Amino acid sequence: MSSSHVLVLNCGSSSLKFAIIDIHSGSEVLSGLAECLAEQQPLIKYKYDGEKQTITLSAGDAHQVAITRLVELVKHLNLDKQLIAVGHRVVHGGEHFTHSVRITPEVIEAIKQTSALAPLHNPANLLGIEAAQTAFAALPQVAVFDTAFHQSMEPTAFLYALPYSLYKEHGIRRYGFHGTSHYYVSTQAHKILGLDKDNSRIVSAHLGNGCSVTAIKNGLSVDTSMGLTPLEGLMMGTRSGDIDPGIFAFLVNQLKYSPTQVDLLLNKQSGLLGISELSNDCRTIEEAAAQGHEQAQLALDIFCYRLAKQIAAFAVPLGGLDTLIFTGGIGENSDEIRRKVVSQLGFLGLTLDNEKNLAARFGQLGIITTTNSPCAVVIPTNEEWVIATDAATIAQEQ
Ligand code: AMP
Repeated sequence: MSSSHVLVLNCGSSSLKFAIIDIHSGSEVLSGLAECLAEQQPLIKYKYDGEKQTITLSAGDAHQVAITRLVELVKHLNLDKQLIAVGHRVVHGGEHFTHSVRITPEVIEAIKQTSALAPLHNPANLLGIEAAQTAFAALPQVAVFDTAFHQSMEPTAFLYALPYSLYKEHGIRRYGFHGTSHYYVSTQAHKILGLDKDNSRIVSAHLGNGCSVTAIKNGLSVDTSMGLTPLEGLMMGTRSGDIDPGIFAFLVNQLKYSPTQVDLLLNKQSGLLGISELSNDCRTIEEAAAQGHEQAQLALDIFCYRLAKQIAAFAVPLGGLDTLIFTGGIGENSDEIRRKVVSQLGFLGLTLDNEKNLAARFGQLGIITTTNSPCAVVIPTNEEWVIATDAATIAQEQ
């Protein structure tokens, strides 16, 4: 059989998530995470052949060293000969990229230009690309963008009601994120539920540490809850989601916050953590709420209320709703959050089936409502699979 492995890299500012995917079987041959990069105790944890292992790096070692050690590991495991491409997750593609592309000097330049819109993410993604280009010089490298799927949105959905010049001159508009995940679960929904792609109205809820909802009409993203940055929209683990923009001026003028402190407050100290004053982790919050922790309960209630409101709002661009998808760590596992959300959406025709809702957890997909149309369905996401198949397809196009 021909070579069929793709190395998928997802490079964060201090971490590097990797996987080798066999695109024939869909299986993950190797997977792992290099973490605490450029810090005191960086290390690589990986799983191969069912065994978990750790490689210790030296203090200060960063992405290039992690990738060099990853290459050594890949060679040691005899996986290098099978590789046909490297696929990179890139967070922000701005308006440059509507689909995945082979990485060229021009593509790198465009990703650099977009870095102002994602200062924490794109420079880290570029570090991964540069390190992988050095390490795997002979392999085609492909960039897959979190924003690309949402480039089908119309100006009515993507423009803020700000002076138009801010859009034209500085690119300030809504871009949306989690596009790879929303694309994957919606295409899976078409297959699993036998939907007519040219006549479908889906809302996909990706609920993990970051949370977003997308309205997908006939296979295309027509609106999404995240905006210029991944802060807009839903309440998340530590992010506030939508707030009155006037709060910014109040914090700065009245409470003397610096802009950096406001940014920290909204991105790292709000959301489930901010309301519960306990944790950003949904499991911890659910356990505490079950034991009577009032602020944990309040955090869950707000999370579900805002989520249900956003889902219902997307019936407007869709002209109704046929399918609601839950995915991401919370969407795939929390029967409680799904129950609370669906129970607020009865007017759209959704009624929860309690047994099916309990069954669809820990990687199990399935319809969780009493009727198939409209329905709510749990579909585990697989962004690595999209990155691997896009990379393989583009690599073969040469
Ligand atoms: P992700 O970013 O997709 O890995 O999702 C992380 C979130 O999923 C965290 O808030 C976890 O607490 C949440 N999560 C994972 N498993 C469960 C579970 N069994 N019940 C509730 N939340 C969960």
